[in-house]
Amino acid sequence: MSFENILGQERAKKILINSLIKGNISHAYIFAGPDEVGKKLTALTFAKTLNCSPLETYGDKLNGKEDSCDECLSCKKINSLNHPDLSIIRKEDENTKTNTISDIKRDFGDEDEDKESRTIKIGAIRELQRRLSFKPYEGKKKMAIIDNAEDMTTEALNSFLKTLEEPPGETVIILITSNMHSLLPTVVSRCQVIKFNPLSDEHIKEILIKNYKFSENDASILSSLSKGRLGSALTADYKELCKYREDVLKMIKSSIRGDLEYIFTESKRLSKEKDELPEFLDSVIDLLRDAVIINGTGIDEGVINKDVSDKIKEFSSGLHIQYILNMVDTVQQTKSLLKRNANPQLAIETMMMSLAASKANLMTGGYR
Ligand SMILES: [Zn+2]
Repeated sequence: MSFENILGQERAKKILINSLIKGNISHAYIFAGPDEVGKKLTALTFAKTLNCSPLETYGDKLNGKEDSCDECLSCKKINSLNHPDLSIIRKEDENTKTNTISDIKRDFGDEDEDKESRTIKIGAIRELQRRLSFKPYEGKKKMAIIDNAEDMTTEALNSFLKTLEEPPGETVIILITSNMHSLLPTVVSRCQVIKFNPLSDEHIKEILIKNYKFSENDASILSSLSKGRLGSALTADYKELCKYREDVLKMIKSSIRGDLEYIFTESKRLSKEKDELPEFLDSVIDLLRDAVIINGTGIDEGVINKDVSDKIKEFSSGLHIQYILNMVDTVQQTKSLLKRNANPQLAIETMMMSLAASKANLMTGGYR
C-alpha cells in the first residue's frame, strides 16, 4: 500500500508528500480525525516512504519520487510490521510488555476487545524512549507510531513530553488520535497537526464500486451506514450488519409498544454485551433521526438507513415528531449515563420503559 493507493484524504496526503519533496520532515506529527478514515494506513505509508531503500535521498529530500516502492525489503518489513526501526505503541492491558507482532496486527486489524479499560502506560513509553535513543539500525529514520495517543496515562504523558521537547535525531513520531481536544496543548504545540476528514457517502460508494467491486445496491447501503469511515465500510460484514439493524428496529418497536417481557429479557441480554452498547445506542439514534426526517418531510432524502425506510415508516407513522425527538433525547441521556458507569441493565431497562412512557405522556399532553 503506497500513497497512491490510499483512497480519499487528498489534503493530508498532499501535505505529507510535499514535506517529503521539500525535505521538510517534522519530528512529530498528530494525525487527527475520526476512526477508520485512513490515519493508521497513512502513518505506515509515511514510515515506508521515509525508509524506502531505492529512493535516492539527499538528507531528508527525496529525488523526485515521493512514494514508497512497496517492494524493497524495508517496505516489506514495514508492511509486516516487522521493521527494527518502527515502533508502534497502543493501548495495553495491565502488563506493559513490548509489542509483539501479533499484538500489533490484532490492534491494527481486528476489533479492539476491551477498549475502555486500556491505556498507554509509562512502561510502553519508557521502552519507546529506549528504542529511540539508538541510531536507526537499517532504515533512515526511527519511526514511532502512537495509536490512540489521547489514552496515555498522565504519568506516560509527562514522560513522553520530554521526548517531544528533545526528540532524538533521525526520529519521526506520529500520534494518532480521534479526539485531539483531549491531548494537552503542550503536546499539540510541539507537533505538526494533519487533519483527516470523513469521506462523503458518494465518495465511499464510488470507491466501493470501483476498487472493491461491490454491487451498486450494497455499496449504496454500506456507504450510508459507514458515516464517512471507509475502513468501517470495508470491514463491515454485510449480513451481520443487516441482522444487527433488525435487532435495533425490534428494540425500538417493542419499546414503543411497552412490551414489558421483551424489555426485561432484552435489557438483560444487552447488558451482558456492555462494550457494544454505545454502538448499539448510536444505531438507535440514527434510526430515530431517520424517522424524524421521514416523518417530517415524507421523503427519505438524507436518511442513513435508506434501504429500510419502509420499516422506519412502519414504526414511526402516526407518531408525533416531538415524541420521536424526545426518544432521541432519552437514548442520548442513557449513553452518557453508561459513560459514567451506570448499571447497564438498569439503564437500558429504564430507557426502554421511558420510550413507551414519553409517548403516553405526550398523548395526554402531560409531557414536561
Ligand atoms: Zn520500498
